[in-house]
Amino acid sequence: MTLQTIKKSDNSKVLLGKSLAELTAWVEEHGQPAYRGKQLYQWLYQKGARSLLDISVFPKKWREEMADYPLGRSTIHYRSVAADATRKYLLRLGDGLIIEAVGIPTSKRLTVCVSSQVGCPMDCDFCATGKGGFTRNLKAYEIVDQVLTVQEDFQQRVSNVVFMGMGEPMANIDEVVAAVKSLNQDVGIGARSLTVSTVGIPGKIQQLAQHQLQIVLAVSLHASNQALREQLIPSAKKYTLDNLLDECRDYVQVTGRRVTFEYVLLAGVNDLSENARELVQCLKGFQAHVNLIPYNPISEVDYQRPDKRRIQAFTDILEEANIAVSVRYSRGLEADAACGQLRASKI
Ligand code: SAH
Repeated sequence: MTLQTIKKSDNSKVLLGKSLAELTAWVEEHGQPAYRGKQLYQWLYQKGARSLLDISVFPKKWREEMADYPLGRSTIHYRSVAADATRKYLLRLGDGLIIEAVGIPTSKRLTVCVSSQVGCPMDCDFCATGKGGFTRNLKAYEIVDQVLTVQEDFQQRVSNVVFMGMGEPMANIDEVVAAVKSLNQDVGIGARSLTVSTVGIPGKIQQLAQHQLQIVLAVSLHASNQALREQLIPSAKKYTLDNLLDECRDYVQVTGRRVTFEYVLLAGVNDLSENARELVQCLKGFQAHVNLIPYNPISEVDYQRPDKRRIQAFTDILEEANIAVSVRYSRGLEADAACGQLRASKI
């Protein structure tokens, strides 16, 4: 294939997402010695190259000839910075579609919240992303790109990645697993610092377990019984809470890793003491960690965030049952960058 026939959006051709061995083969195919594969690899994953022209260690004539070859990088379409220094990005992909990524700095860490799909097919009642429908899955390189983009913008190494942006990672499991492997091996982020969050799709947690990744699996439970879960999460009708928890148990057995359960707290809906007690029953037998997420407001629905007292009461019941609990006060609220607020609205 000649260079002219390679379109910028041609997925199979982009360089990002390729391993060192694949890049080495690629440079050789394009008339360069094998050692340049390592250089290309470093410039792609560590030095923020956005075009082959950037790679100053390569011969100038060759770079100019190859200047249009697609690397697979997005462009920053819009960036907003919240008072707490969280940065939300709207990124334009090769085909013009827009996705969101969020950079969340703390004193020691830089966490990136990545999208795995354009939009989301799950349509959870309290989440903004699903309201806009589903457009397409992301490729692994488009996920890796989000991390590199945030890393470059902050000029600081990313320490953690959470797959909690737009989309349902398990509905795009092959590309998500490929992205996890690339983030670990090529970008150099520890597997245990990578978290994949899922609302659950039948069979997918088991499939993920087979990969034996040392990542953190977070499961969006959000309800303490089947009826309540169906009310909040349409897909729960086809995948019962019992089935989901069974699959989580198998996951723990196969991987030896714990599971984190996420539970968005909606005032008067799922935050009652009886819900907390039911949740304790659901999680019997798990060495569970529960991450409570006080609801972040979105415009389409009128749920409320519970007050501090209710959150504390819920927390106390779980802790009394020896369940580890953390409360995620989402960062970036006023930049619409918090959990559940991601949508491509500012295009
Ligand atoms: N599809 C994945 C990732 C979603 S985002 C999943 O369902 O797990 C990460 C977390 O934010 C999920 O637990 C999701 O349910 C939660 N979330 C969605 N909307 C929210 C909102 N408005 N307030 C707080 N958390 C929300």
